[in-house]
Amino acid sequence: MTDQTANDLPPGAGAPLRAEAVVDLDAVRANTRRLGQIAAGSGAGVMAIVKADAYGHGAVACARAAKEAGAGWLGTALPEEALQLRAAGLTGPILAWLHPAGGPWDALIEAGVDVTAYASWALEEIAVAAQRLGRPARVQLKADTGLGRGGTQPHDWLELVELAAKAEAAGTVKVTGVWSHFACADEPGHPSIRAQLESFGQALAAADRAGLRPEVRHIANSPAALTLPEAHFDLVRPGLALYGLSPLPDVTPAELGLRPAMTLRARVALVKTAPAGHGVSYGHIYHTAADTALALVPLGYADGLPRSSSNVGEVFIGGRRHRVAGRMAMDQFVVDLEDPAAEAARVGDEVVIFGPGDRGEPTADDWARATGTLNYEIVTRIGPRVPRVYVGNS
Ligand SMILES: *Cc1c(COP(=O)(O)O)cnc(C)c1O
Repeated sequence: MTDQTANDLPPGAGAPLRAEAVVDLDAVRANTRRLGQIAAGSGAGVMAIVKADAYGHGAVACARAAKEAGAGWLGTALPEEALQLRAAGLTGPILAWLHPAGGPWDALIEAGVDVTAYASWALEEIAVAAQRLGRPARVQLKADTGLGRGGTQPHDWLELVELAAKAEAAGTVKVTGVWSHFACADEPGHPSIRAQLESFGQALAAADRAGLRPEVRHIANSPAALTLPEAHFDLVRPGLALYGLSPLPDVTPAELGLRPAMTLRARVALVKTAPAGHGVSYGHIYHTAADTALALVPLGYADGLPRSSSNVGEVFIGGRRHRVAGRMAMDQFVVDLEDPAAEAARVGDEVVIFGPGDRGEPTADDWARATGTLNYEIVTRIGPRVPRVYVGNS
C-alpha cells in the first residue's frame, strides 16, 4: 500500500512538489457545458464567474476553459480581476461589480469591461470618466431586490434608471445590463426567492419605462441556475457549479451532473514511529492510543486548510483515510497512521487532502462538513503558496 503515488493522477501532475492543487480543466469545460445546456433550456446563456481566482482554481485558465465550453460572458467581483483577464488576452464581454469610489473607471472603460453602478453617485463618476475619455462606458445597473447587500434599493431605483437614460441620451454610457442577486437560492422554496423575482420584475419594468433596453438581464447564481428556470432571464451566473461543487445542501455533484475540478495533494515529508501516549502537535490535543507511526504532511493553515480541521479533517494516504492528529499548524500537520510497523506510508508518498472522491479520498464537501463551513470556502482559501497544476488542457 505504499506505492500509490503520482500515477493515480493524470500526466502533468507528477512533479515531486511539496504540495499542489491539480485543476482538471476538462472538468471545468464539462461543468460549463452542463450549465450551458440547462440555461439553453430557458433560452439563456452563461456568464462564468471567475472571481477570487476562479474560487482558487486559477482565473485565467478557468476563464479560457469556460469560454471554450461556450460561456459567452465572464464575471468578476473586483475590477482588478477583470483587468487581469483582459491583460491575459481574454476578449468578449466581462462584468465587474464591486468598485471602490473611483472605479477605477478609466482603466475599465478603456479595457471595455462592463462596470456596475449600485447608486447614482457611481453612475455620475462613470459618466464623467467616459466623457473625458471620449468613449461610452458599458454599464450594468444592479438592483437590491432583497439580498440587502450591494445594489440599489427599490425606493432609489427610479432615480438611477432615469439618470442612466439621460447619460445614454448624452452618449456617455450604454446600459448593457440590469441585474440582481439572490439571498437564499440554495434553499429552494424559501419565500424570499419569490419576493426577489417579483421585485426584479418591477426593477426591469421601471428600466423599460425609462427607455433602457439592456442586452442582458440576470439574477441566477449556481443554485438558481440549477433549480429555478424562471430565474434564468438572459444569462445565468454560476461560479461554484463550474468548479464541480454542489451549491445545494445534501445534493452531490454527481447528482447534478457535475465533476469537482480540484484535487489538493501533498507528499509525506517524514514518517516516524512513536510510543503510545505521545502528545502530537501544538497544545497536545491528541495523544497516540498505541505504539504507532506518524506521518508529517507539509501543508497548513497558511496554505488555506482551516485550523478547525484539528483532530477532525481527513486525508487519503496509501488507499485509506486517516484523520488529522492534533492541531493543524501554519505549515504542516500530522497524521496517525495507526501502524506500529511504519509500513503504511513512506516519505514522498501522495497525500490527497481532497479530490473528486472517486478513489475514496475526502471531498471538499467532507472538509466543509468536518470544519463547519461551506465547500465554497474550502476551495477558495487555498493559498498562493500552493502551485496550481493544470491537467485536461486539451
Ligand atoms: C459569487 C457570485 C456569483 C456566483 O455564485 P455561485 O453561488 O458560486 O454560483 C454570482 N453572482 C454574484 C453577484 C456573485 O457575487
